[in-house]
Amino acid sequence: MRKNHIDIISLGCSKNLVDSEVLMRQFEAVGYTVSHDPEHPNGNIAIINTCGFIGDAKEESINMILRFCQRKQLGQLERLYVMGCLSQRYLEELKIEIPEVDKFYGKFDYNGIIADIGKEYRQDLRLERHLTTPKHYAYLKISEGCNRTCSYCAIPIITGKYKSRKIEDIEQEVCWLVSIGVKEFQVIAQDLTYYGYDIYKDYKIAELISRLSDIKGVEWLRLHYAYPTNFPYSLLKVMRERDNVCNYLDIALQHISDPMLKKMRRSITSEETYDLLARIREEVPGICLRTTLMVGHPGETEADFNQLKEFVQKIKFDRMGAFKYSDEEKTYANLHYKDDVPLDVKQARLDELMNIQQSISYNLNQSKIGQVWKVIIDREEGDYYVARSEFDSPEVDMEILIQKDKNSLSIGNFYRVKIIKAEEFDFYAQIQK
Ligand code: SF4
Repeated sequence: MRKNHIDIISLGCSKNLVDSEVLMRQFEAVGYTVSHDPEHPNGNIAIINTCGFIGDAKEESINMILRFCQRKQLGQLERLYVMGCLSQRYLEELKIEIPEVDKFYGKFDYNGIIADIGKEYRQDLRLERHLTTPKHYAYLKISEGCNRTCSYCAIPIITGKYKSRKIEDIEQEVCWLVSIGVKEFQVIAQDLTYYGYDIYKDYKIAELISRLSDIKGVEWLRLHYAYPTNFPYSLLKVMRERDNVCNYLDIALQHISDPMLKKMRRSITSEETYDLLARIREEVPGICLRTTLMVGHPGETEADFNQLKEFVQKIKFDRMGAFKYSDEEKTYANLHYKDDVPLDVKQARLDELMNIQQSISYNLNQSKIGQVWKVIIDREEGDYYVARSEFDSPEVDMEILIQKDKNSLSIGNFYRVKIIKAEEFDFYAQIQK
């Protein structure tokens, strides 16, 4: 057990990861060493940053907490803290059920841990982080919370109302990240497109992205978690005109049939969704569209599902994820609807949808052979360098494999490559001199 060493375990989404990175920087500044590796913990203090979004994520968080409780019982750990969405949502229950944990924090008061270990929070470091990602890219969280009322979603219950960060703070953070070598920024929020409305009484995402793209050293800005309703079309102009804003948009659409969109309280219709996607593709030619869809929401009929399949076949998303409805406590759906789609039907629909997407993805990728792209090298793996293009977000999208044999490439550097082969989820490429 290493003294004055803190293991931070981040579960859930990249927004959680940013909170862990901010906290790690604070601990380093007050004399602790830190690590972020759940497989090799060895510190005298551990902090579990939990996820409480849906059933599977909650289970994973509980299991991780119990694993570290065991380490404590075995004398391999002195103090255990828990923070994040699960403890934000179930604080009182967790205190009773898992008394081995020294203290539970929520999603926004975790700086209290610093006082708990007898140190002071460093306000001057509030925009700095200990990056856990490869040093050339970072997640950039521009807000917390969500004002939408999607029927199935527990996030507003956990995170509360939308809180935008000030543009100046985000700019300062990006400048600091550039100064430590970050070139690529994954711009994240619960709802990217609502940015600024709470503090500036106007949608400010286009202005924010153009100001960030003006910062010297920012090579790529990639946008995640857009919401379809009241879409700020001014953003598309910025994406089209700025080379360092990736031609990539992650926009969660969840469904397409009008009865489902109504039941899900998504405040958009099927026709409006088709129109929005057509306009995005028209205004940003060659844009890579990623979406997330849900199957098995209460009331989903075979006809609704057929519409969803048809939608996926018509639109041909470049990237798509999907998941089954999970009946989450105190959500609108949980309080007002019966979870009436049997689990095996949910699973069958999910499998069918992902199979459709797999062949769409394969065919779309074939059409990329021969194209020349700017890519960034993430890592080395066996005989290959593993890279990504502007069309691929880390961890969730495609990777580009470049043979090592004749090349000596540097991680974190950009190169031009020609796509020579394509599979469902990977490309093979050659360096272009
Ligand atoms: S937009 Fe909807 S799904 Fe996304 S976080 Fe907000 S309530 Fe949840």
